[in-house]
Amino acid sequence: MTIILEYPHSIKRYIKFINHIDIECNCPFCGRPLWNHGKYNRTVHHKTKSYVIPIIRKRCPDCDKTFSLLPSFVRPWARFSNH
Ligand SMILES: [Zn+2]
Repeated sequence: MTIILEYPHSIKRYIKFINHIDIECNCPFCGRPLWNHGKYNRTVHHKTKSYVIPIIRKRCPDCDKTFSLLPSFVRPWARFSNH
C-alpha cells in the first residue's frame, strides 16, 4: 500500500531530508505507529533529469501490512514528477 507523504520542497531536498530524518506515521487502518521496514530506490524524472530517490517502507505490526511512503511529487500511476 502507498501512503502519500506531503513534501512540498524540491527532490534534492527530499533526498537529503529522508536520509537524516526518521518519519513517524500511523497505520491508516488501526492507528498504531508504524515500524521501520527498510527502504528502496526509485527513479523519478523531472524536466530533463532523472533522480534516484529513496522510498521509505513501514510496516504495521498489528495489521501485518507494508506501506511505502511516497513523497507527494511522485504519483503512483506515473514515473514522472508533477512540478
Ligand atoms: Zn494497522
